[in-house]
Amino acid sequence: MPPHVRILLGFVAGAALGVALFVAFGGEHAVVAAITSVTEPVGKLFLRALLLCVIPLVASSLVLGVTGLGDLRRLGRVGGKTLALTVVLSSISVIVGLAAANVVRPGDRLDPDVKAKLVAKYADKAQELSARAIADDKPLSEAIVGVIPDNIVAAMAKTPPDMLGLMLFALFVGVALALQKDEVKRPLVDVLEAVFKASSTMVRIVMLAAPVGVFCLLVTMTARFGFELLGALAVYVGCVLGALLFHQIVVYGAALRMLAGVSPIAFFSRAREAMLTAFSTSSSNATLPTALDITERRLTVPRPIASFVLTVGATANQNGTALFEGVTVLFLAQVFSVDLTLAQQATVLVLAVVAGIGTAGVPSASIPFIAIVLAQVGVPPEGIAIILGVDRFLDMCRTVLNVSGDMACAVIIAKSEGADVLQVEQPA
Ligand code: ASP
Repeated sequence: MPPHVRILLGFVAGAALGVALFVAFGGEHAVVAAITSVTEPVGKLFLRALLLCVIPLVASSLVLGVTGLGDLRRLGRVGGKTLALTVVLSSISVIVGLAAANVVRPGDRLDPDVKAKLVAKYADKAQELSARAIADDKPLSEAIVGVIPDNIVAAMAKTPPDMLGLMLFALFVGVALALQKDEVKRPLVDVLEAVFKASSTMVRIVMLAAPVGVFCLLVTMTARFGFELLGALAVYVGCVLGALLFHQIVVYGAALRMLAGVSPIAFFSRAREAMLTAFSTSSSNATLPTALDITERRLTVPRPIASFVLTVGATANQNGTALFEGVTVLFLAQVFSVDLTLAQQATVLVLAVVAGIGTAGVPSASIPFIAIVLAQVGVPPEGIAIILGVDRFLDMCRTVLNVSGDMACAVIIAKSEGADVLQVEQPA
């Protein structure tokens, strides 16, 4: 059975069992205990094993990607295209989100009783999260200075690791290496080649457990999920999902067709295993190893370009996150009857694009950021209480867009560099 079919089976079985448990025994002690002590830890083991492979994989593949691009002019070109696509597509995604929230106005439709209940239920957590986010918020100049880590070991040791810092370091090493004579760089390139191959094999081994891991992640998520919340917040959830789908299908579909001349259907069908992993793990970082493998083998993007665009994109190109942040800030402003002027919405747009670039690729990474933007536009940041209950589900969905967006960018850039994309698939 091909791997993606096994993962899909784990996914469907996990979701079905979780929903059944919720419907039959929702909240009962024995079920909660079974989930907390069995499916949750097993799901986390899978996730952690994937994340464990990320640092050696990112470091080796990015350095090799940079040296593999050949000359620095080509690197500059690919880097420039990656940056331009990221900024343009992220801006479009936030505009899609803001437009959806302005047209649907989900915040006006939230029942005041539901609002009071949600605020009460999640108040403590929301307060803690928003207080921490606002305390951690640095002035712009400090945030810019912090982009370059002064200690690469400390940057990697952070939780979650400072991927932006690691990326810059790997790029720097790659550039310096590219400037060396062949006989000087050869030994290190050989070592990195071996590190890359070994970490790819590690990922493949971990992915053998994906059907079980995904099964457990889905049971945990669905058995715990507040389905009653889905009804109360249906308009908001629908607005986020509709906007995500629109961006995924229409905007990325058009970009793939017009900029790379490939059929969006073929693209999504080949990318599905990575999209499924993104949905199950809610983490771009944890999905990166799978995304790299699929982009190279199934979308036939040359390795240096796939390595460069995907590793940079996993942190920087997060259209789903940017879009979600736009809709959510507007939704909460509507709930608290704060009328955001066009200028304020433009501020939200810029902040959401920047946040999409800066947000780490781990579950719920956008929440602290939303608290900060809310505070800036005069909405109580504790308002995030209202959406915390559905965040995990929306996180799964936005991560799919984050990951498939990176893969689409890799295809577009590879095509513009003269590569033949979506050719005959290579075997695993
Ligand atoms: N979970 C998202 C990702 O890893 C980030 C977020 O929006 O919270 O891409």
